[in-house]
Amino acid sequence: MKIQKFGGTSVGTPQRMKEVCNLITQEKGNIVVLSAMSGTTNSLVEIADYFKKGNPEAASGVINRLRSKYAQHIEDLYSSEESKQQTLSFLDEEFTLLHSFACVSFTDTVEKTIVAQGEIISTNMVTNYLTEQGIKVKLLPALAYMRLSENGEPDLPYIKEHLSELLQANPADLYITQGFIARNARGDIDNLLRGGSDYTACLIGAGLKAEEIQIWTDIDGMHNNDPRVVENTEAVRQLNFEEAAELAYFGAKILHPTCIQPARYAGVPVKLLNTMD
Ligand code: ADP
Ligand code: ASP
Ligand code: MG
Repeated sequence: MKIQKFGGTSVGTPQRMKEVCNLITQEKGNIVVLSAMSGTTNSLVEIADYFKKGNPEAASGVINRLRSKYAQHIEDLYSSEESKQQTLSFLDEEFTLLHSFACVSFTDTVEKTIVAQGEIISTNMVTNYLTEQGIKVKLLPALAYMRLSENGEPDLPYIKEHLSELLQANPADLYITQGFIARNARGDIDNLLRGGSDYTACLIGAGLKAEEIQIWTDIDGMHNNDPRVVENTEAVRQLNFEEAAELAYFGAKILHPTCIQPARYAGVPVKLLNTMD
């Protein structure tokens, strides 16, 4: 079994989602971790921020803009009316939930719940698309197995046990799950910090002792410098876990800084791959 993680840009448009679906259906039995569509988590952070500042009108504006964007995505992604309607009614519930936070007092859990919806939406959209294509796919809800312990660190034995149970109870050719989101020790919605979907993939890969963890993104692997800042950077063909962790820690955004550790301890190789190529 391989763990394949696709970041926001890899699922950033309906066309990209279709390309990802083409890639992940080449093999059977893998677990696919998805981020939110690019830009969505930033919008959700903005929405949470407006609620926090007591400005529900501004939050409402951002929610409505996001809603029209997704309505168009649905139109472009699915071919059957049934899939469009199914996904639209799911999204209706999602946006009703977001609007409902105008009427509750703002807490850390409210913020985390808002920010979690990007991954919940993207994984539902992709699962519905694969189902429309006749693929035997199951959506594994990350909130049912991805758990932080009292000290805020991922609880690997819990993750391993609950994910294994879910897999056993849901035989399928392909599994989709959310990156980034988790529950804390109290059972409230939490997350693995920005960029945390990489961490999700590595935790799953380590917990299940996967054959390989693949981080698919918009560049051909880890470069020797940040290509957004430095010109003519090059992909580094091979890095040991320490070097990769060090580069990530010092800002190589392609990897979440701590994501590599569980894979390293479990001895599972991590590959960085380019969705665009
Ligand atoms: P994803 O949405 O797939 O998680 P990210 O934006 O988190 O993608 O990470 C990929 C981006 O990381 C690249 O587009 C690149 O601009 C940036 N990046 C920063 N430093 C590096 C580096 N050393 N090597 C490769 N990419 C890097
Ligand atoms: N969607 C989250 C973020 O934008 C997690 C991720 O993309 O890895 O930070
Ligand atoms: Mg990332």
